[in-house]
Amino acid sequence: MDIEEFVYEIEKLGISCDDYKLFLLEKYCDLLLEWNSFMNLTAITDRKDIYLKHFYDSLTICKVIDLKSISSICDVGTGAGFPGIVLKIFFPHIELTLVDALEKRIKFLNEVVSTLSLSNVYTVHARAEDYGKINREKFDLVTARAVSSFNILLEYCIPMVKVNSYFVAMRGNDDSFVAGNALKVLSSSISSKKIFNLPHDEGVRSLFLIKKNKNTDLKYPRRNSVIKKIPL
Ligand code: SAM
Repeated sequence: MDIEEFVYEIEKLGISCDDYKLFLLEKYCDLLLEWNSFMNLTAITDRKDIYLKHFYDSLTICKVIDLKSISSICDVGTGAGFPGIVLKIFFPHIELTLVDALEKRIKFLNEVVSTLSLSNVYTVHARAEDYGKINREKFDLVTARAVSSFNILLEYCIPMVKVNSYFVAMRGNDDSFVAGNALKVLSSSISSKKIFNLPHDEGVRSLFLIKKNKNTDLKYPRRNSVIKKIPL
């Protein structure tokens, strides 16, 4: 996907672009490729593929939620910053927390935040299950792209979400099922589910928008899930 097509496709998602945002994306792409030469950040190394499979893909979250009304996001298992950094570039009003268990990825993210002069971005080297224990009901939105199995993710992420707010799981085609009794136990429900193809038929993507309906005082998250897997 070249930049022209990227701009065209995100406009279809209701996202407007300007030269400064494109400049930030280019810098981010440069850093990703540079650091990827000595650190394992992504298997995608072609610039056009990065625009499609990382940048555009991250923004598809706008299919299920209006980010203009969101003030704080926690991106769990953010890796090299997806979707978190891309969302911050296009929605700069958002206070963003990036959580990852791998310290080297946090180092990379610190460099991105500094080079792009992004404000109100916090990087956290932690496991989601530990971070969630001390950051309950803190965020308007929790995101996770291509992280862990769905039922485990729910246990980690829902506790961090404010009541009446949302968690979005961004996934491939691998698991359009799962969740099990986790939704019920965590007082949550599926508000929306979207399955679609990336442009150029570059793969199927699934978005699950999960609403936290009320507080739960269960001792979540746990390291070893006992939540059963059943189809959604
Ligand atoms: N979200 C990024 C993306 O879409 O490109 C990265 C996906 S990568 C497949 C999964 C990431 O989740 C890795 O960076 C890994 O370190 C992180 N991760 C896995 N389990 C985690 C946990 N329990 N807590 C925090 N991070 C975790």
